[in-house]
Amino acid sequence: MATVPSASARRKHIDVRGIVQGVGFRPFVYNLAQSLGLSGYVFNSSAGVTIEIEGGEGEVASFIETLRAEPPQLAAIASVAVSDVEVRGGEGFSIRESHEEPGAFSLISPDAGTCDACWQDFGDARNRRYGYPFTNCTHCGPRYTIIQDIPYDRATTTMASFTMCPACAAEYADPTDRRFHAQPNACAVCGPSLELVPSGATLEDCCFADRDSLAIIRRVRALLRAGKIVAVKGLGGFLLACDAANDAAVAELRRRKRRSDKPFALMSRDIIAVRTICAVSPDDEAALLSVRRPIVVLPRVRGAQVSAEVAPGNDTVGVMLPYTPLHYLLFSDSPETPAEFTALVMTSGNMSEEPIVTSNAEAMRQLGGVADWFLLHNRDIWTRVDDSVVRTFEGRERVLRRSRGFVPQTIDLGLELEEVLAFGGELKNTFCLTKGRYAVLSQHIGDLENYETMQFFEETLARLQHVFRVSPRAVAYDLHPGYWSTRMALASPIERKIGVQHHHAHIASCMAENHLRSPVIGVALDGTGFGTDGKIWGGEFMVADFAGFIRRAHLRYVPLPGGDAAVRQPWRMGLSYLRDAFGAQIPVERLRFPGVSEKQIELVDTILTKGIQTVETSSCGRLFDAVAAMLGLGSEATFEGQAAIALETAAARASDSQRDFVSYPYSIDGDDPMVLDLRPAIIAIARDVSAGRPTEEIAALFHNVLASAIVALCERIRESDGLERVCLSGGTFQNLILLQRTIAELRRRGFAVFQHALVPANDGGIALGQAVIANERLRQAE
Ligand SMILES: [Zn+2]
Ligand SMILES: [Zn+2]
Repeated sequence: MATVPSASARRKHIDVRGIVQGVGFRPFVYNLAQSLGLSGYVFNSSAGVTIEIEGGEGEVASFIETLRAEPPQLAAIASVAVSDVEVRGGEGFSIRESHEEPGAFSLISPDAGTCDACWQDFGDARNRRYGYPFTNCTHCGPRYTIIQDIPYDRATTTMASFTMCPACAAEYADPTDRRFHAQPNACAVCGPSLELVPSGATLEDCCFADRDSLAIIRRVRALLRAGKIVAVKGLGGFLLACDAANDAAVAELRRRKRRSDKPFALMSRDIIAVRTICAVSPDDEAALLSVRRPIVVLPRVRGAQVSAEVAPGNDTVGVMLPYTPLHYLLFSDSPETPAEFTALVMTSGNMSEEPIVTSNAEAMRQLGGVADWFLLHNRDIWTRVDDSVVRTFEGRERVLRRSRGFVPQTIDLGLELEEVLAFGGELKNTFCLTKGRYAVLSQHIGDLENYETMQFFEETLARLQHVFRVSPRAVAYDLHPGYWSTRMALASPIERKIGVQHHHAHIASCMAENHLRSPVIGVALDGTGFGTDGKIWGGEFMVADFAGFIRRAHLRYVPLPGGDAAVRQPWRMGLSYLRDAFGAQIPVERLRFPGVSEKQIELVDTILTKGIQTVETSSCGRLFDAVAAMLGLGSEATFEGQAAIALETAAARASDSQRDFVSYPYSIDGDDPMVLDLRPAIIAIARDVSAGRPTEEIAALFHNVLASAIVALCERIRESDGLERVCLSGGTFQNLILLQRTIAELRRRGFAVFQHALVPANDGGIALGQAVIANERLRQAE
């Protein structure tokens, strides 16, 4: 029965955009409207959520206020458009059928760690989900990894093959229930189940018929306690697990994975356990416990119950907390029982640099030589995502690897963009699509050096382009002719192609996430980026905006002897820098690098003298390599940045007095561009090494000289260009000591300093910069 509209009644039409589907938004709206006695309806459209409400003026206003201020945990509201419509009267509030608008897109939620209410269900022996590994609700659980298409509905997820039992179906249909339209809703009766099989088994050996998860998981814990390596199928792929306190198990995993020195990530059951391994600040704790549940890089404490094999030569370690009940069960049945491990190694299930493995069959085929056992489940992973890695600095979570929990959340750039596709770089690749005001950055794809990773790139691109309905007008690419991403961009059917210099992309990326538009002083320090002069850049100081850049200064060029070999063998750069600094008179005692034969040194020396097989480089990463090699901190590198990390670790161990702002000498030459000449520092370092000065002290002073040189160059650019804002980007700024010293001194001198937080400072962030630069070029061409 319709009521007569009262004189004071108001009716509003509300369009909400952002991540508002699959996150419990409609029940939230329904319950809010009910509690305020409003009538009307809500429905999902392909562009978001549409609402009409009617009632008293005060109630309507309070509805809109609460909608904006207290949306469900996983919702991310991008905009709320409210308009007045004619009062109609009517009773009750309803949830209507979804409407699809052609061409429109809605945002997909990233996967979310288990919510508090679900942890309670899971840990309560009287609850029907007690110990159930796949417990979730509208506030948590899998999303991006299981969604095959939009609109988001169970039929378009990998949960489609599971039919809900009556109890689950009742929750799903009840707007007042936390599991109303929770697409992955499941329980032990009707949902996914586990299977434990030894290495060598095949899919035919798996039937997933045993629904007693706790019995299976207890066997897994017994295997881990016995030092076995277990491949565990998780949310975005397989992880390889072993007891982090067991030296033999960790060493064996390292050997089988052929991962010589790269650190392994850890998982602990709870924050109390993490505190026994690492120093955890309040910011770190917030990051660990956030719904994204990333790996957080933390300083290790002395005497931690963790094998030295976890992160050799490193004083930090990456730790995460369980983000699904399945992960929790690897430690104990429930919060009531003690954890059986302080920490488990939880490293990506893949062979060296290949993409993380997702399907049961693929895992058994590819990881048979690594894992002793496989803990499988029968919910398919549609989209592969690695664990994300963050570090906190100055009160903010800063992303080092952006994947699970972050992707595909869009980044609001605060300006309307053309639709473009940026292919990113070669190492730590991600790509970027733009749509409206948003950048859609792909999950971490990895180093584009094998066929599997390239396939991963193509598969992810096709899916994100489809889901976000992007038709790029142009492609952006790195200038390096040898990058696979560049070759792929150039082969693309999209005609408009825009090449972007690597370090310009770094700075534009930092500008974009900080919503800066006008020119800045850009300091981009990293390992490798192709320069406009054909040389390898990486120690760059520029004046830049989205439209272009002027190279104002760079690190003095030195020869890079043997190209890629110089990256794997830092001692080559040590020799190159010594030769550059001393000329022919290198002190003979300096020509020794641990584990390098005289013959090898002679060979590289000849290469350097004759200038064959060399290109010139201003790379800051290679400068770190050179100094690390001079200090005997490793002549070989098995992963990118290893020597730099060793140098940072050494500097961090220096006592406070040695960390003071004392530094080595350097000079700044030339004008257009200026050249930062560190030869005086190299000579001083060589003498200090010969004189037996402690390595920690020299490492600390080296960080100081670099920081003071950066500040000095920024001062000069401020003088010439009248700019006060400095953007810091590039992988070198993952070095906290360098970052802290540089920022402190820049601020002391009145600069405004901007850094990365939402996207990585390393090459994982350059696709965003490429995209905004391409957008600007398209705009200017019109
Ligand atoms: Zn939940
Ligand atoms: Zn059920």
